Amino acid sequence: MQFKKNKMKTSMPQQKPEERIKNFDEVNLGYDEKSAIKEASRCLQCKKPVCIDGCPVKINIPKFIKQIKDKKFNDAIKTIKEQNFLPKVCGRVCPQETQCEEKCILAKKKQAVAIGYLERFAGDNEKSFDIPKIKKISKKIAVVGSGPSSLTCAAKLALMGHNVKLFEALHKTGGVLRYGIPEFRLPKKIVDDEINYIKKLGVEIEINAVIGRTISLDELSNEYDAIFIGTGAGLPYFMHIPGENLNGVYSANEFLTRINLMKANEFPKTKTPIKKAKKTIVVGGGNVAIDAARTARRLGSDVTVVYRRSFDEMPGRIEEIEHAREEGINFLMLTNPTKILGEKIVTGIECQQMMLGEMDSSGRRTPLPIEDSEFSLECDQVIIAIGQGINPLLARNSELRTGMRGSIDVNEKYQTSNPKIFAGGDVIGQEATVIKAMADGKNAASAIDAFLRGELKDDGSNRAE
Ligand SMILES: Cc1cc2nc3c(=O)[nH]c(=O)nc-3n(C[C@H](O)[C@H](O)[C@H](O)COP(=O)(O)OP(=O)(O)OC[C@H]3O[C@@H](n4cnc5c(N)ncnc54)[C@H](O)[C@@H]3O)c2cc1C
Ligand code: SF4
Repeated sequence: MQFKKNKMKTSMPQQKPEERIKNFDEVNLGYDEKSAIKEASRCLQCKKPVCIDGCPVKINIPKFIKQIKDKKFNDAIKTIKEQNFLPKVCGRVCPQETQCEEKCILAKKKQAVAIGYLERFAGDNEKSFDIPKIKKISKKIAVVGSGPSSLTCAAKLALMGHNVKLFEALHKTGGVLRYGIPEFRLPKKIVDDEINYIKKLGVEIEINAVIGRTISLDELSNEYDAIFIGTGAGLPYFMHIPGENLNGVYSANEFLTRINLMKANEFPKTKTPIKKAKKTIVVGGGNVAIDAARTARRLGSDVTVVYRRSFDEMPGRIEEIEHAREEGINFLMLTNPTKILGEKIVTGIECQQMMLGEMDSSGRRTPLPIEDSEFSLECDQVIIAIGQGINPLLARNSELRTGMRGSIDVNEKYQTSNPKIFAGGDVIGQEATVIKAMADGKNAASAIDAFLRGELKDDGSNRAE
């Protein structure tokens, strides 16, 4: 099939906004074969494929795109899986626009190749997969947590022939992929498919195992030759303003977990209740805020996102912010809450207007309060989504050295202050993205393998300040 070179991305069909706000089904519906081939045909197959530089796990992007163009769909997914064990997840949630697609040479002229959409297509069209013959090694590794960093680390170690057991505190695996990112962006069936593949590689999984509580890190350390910690950043931050303890105030974490993990949206068919709010204010501007806002909208609420900077500084994915706007979510920029109003139950929120000052250390302009600009908004639910910190349980119950905000300190080989314990993903305080967590897991797996072979040079840097 020949297509005229098109400067614009092939669009992906979507559920209409007025329909999708009434359900939790996926918004983006995926390419069909014809659209995928058309989009793949836009790739220039550059001699120096700069797109690969933008991919934290270094997928051979032009190779898999050419395989799609040539209708070799199963080869395309094999190419991706050489570097990425969660392609269906990444094809849906990776911020490609600031990674591979940002680097794509076509982005300079018109629109980058839709690398993420093509990755998703390849993942969704996988017809069969072969489990490679793995030569077993007698080393035992414990992996703590089951988010993208741990799943990737476990998969890579299993492929290297190690015996890997993964311990998850919750009753379900997947970490944020399961309890944070909503079904309408990442269906749980997709998470199950990816985890089943990792189980088929031989990774054993124990759920309801809280390391640092049900099993201590020392116990694990005695039984296993090495440990990887990928426990994420699940501790929600609050604003510490008056009224935050009123009924009707949630952390985004609690709100999303109730829906995603405990199906509160199906209450009373399920046991977990959720408030059916009329007016919701969501505080924050990242993916978590946008996910909470869109979830509240689907529960029938009118929703306003309140963010202290401007649209330009919002860290949420552009596509998801666009989807939220299409779904009728209001955005109130340059606004910061100062007080939550009500007696026992939330009735409103007091805010102050902000302006932007100089650049701060994050490279974004600092929000500054405007004097005497306070105003109030009515609402019966407030969801706080201003960031998460490290869950302190494991670090507090171990001797591991910690750094900023309780993150676990590692050296460039992901080795903690205990040489047989490695860590990666959000728990080491990295940029919080799925693909970054996966890159950590993958690199840590190589370092663990080298450590077990006695090839990891201990230069003491893991213990240096
Ligand atoms: C709502 C939301 C939306 C997001 N959207 C995006 C997005 O669109 N794109 C993107 O790239 N990133 C997104 N992120 C960020 C991304 O999900 C995280 O950066 C990523 O999941 C971090 O992976 P991880 O493996 O480090 O940890 P997590 O995914 O947090 O997984 C950690 C796991 O460890 C378990 N655990 C914790 N303590 C223990 C213990 N003591 N013992 C055993 N198990 C333990 C937890 O229960 C959890 O299952 C989003 C995050 C949230 C919260
Ligand atoms: S940079 Fe863009 S056009 Fe070039 S190989 Fe990568 S995806 Fe294709």
